[in-house]
Amino acid sequence: MERLDKVLANMGAGSRKEVKALIRQGRVRVDGAVVSSGETKVDPEESRIEVDGAPVRYQRHVYLMMNKPLGVISASSDPKEKTVVDLVPERWRHWDLFPAGRLDKDTEGFVLLTDDGAFAHDILSPRKHIPKTYVAKVDIPLDERAVKAFASGMDIGAGQICQSAELILRETEGGQECVVVLKEGMYHQIKRMFGALGGKVLSLKRVRMGDLPLDESLAPGECRELTKEELARVQ
Ligand code: URA
Repeated sequence: MERLDKVLANMGAGSRKEVKALIRQGRVRVDGAVVSSGETKVDPEESRIEVDGAPVRYQRHVYLMMNKPLGVISASSDPKEKTVVDLVPERWRHWDLFPAGRLDKDTEGFVLLTDDGAFAHDILSPRKHIPKTYVAKVDIPLDERAVKAFASGMDIGAGQICQSAELILRETEGGQECVVVLKEGMYHQIKRMFGALGGKVLSLKRVRMGDLPLDESLAPGECRELTKEELARVQ
């Protein structure tokens, strides 16, 4: 049994403060009866909980897709820097969110935010081989030799050897563009891989996790909840 206000907040009915107000206003019913205290104990899986007559669903965890902008760090909190969690709208802020996998401050794109530690551990494990796809611009022209080097497992220094990674080269109007698919996430991995070939990364964006592409309708800094189907495509 759990406190009604906590359960309601976990159901996405609002922040703790907002759900307390809903309860005070007599808008919450449990098994048909109006409940006036947030401290009331309910069974989150069994009790029929309604707000304004509409049933609310119990949610154990939350999973958000964010289009990370440049200039913010992939952390939950930081004394000096703005973090991805600072950008999350109020309605999800009561969850204990953290980014499942880090992007550098100067990398943009798909960051998955969750409070589900087991899920995060799972999708980040190099043993799971979940591909993460990036688009990069690099300051040197690249050819088939670079593609082969990525595929063969590169030495990126500090005693670290990468697993085989995919590099796809594309010619665009703005010059050459590289698509990189990694199945692991070592510190500054892509920058170090191109660095090992004598290049410098000019821009980097994560565009896909597993089989799920970044929703390009999300403006930088925006996020939205993933559907169950989308979540399954990440794993
Ligand atoms: N590789 C990098 O170098 N930076 C990132 O942010 C992600 C992958």
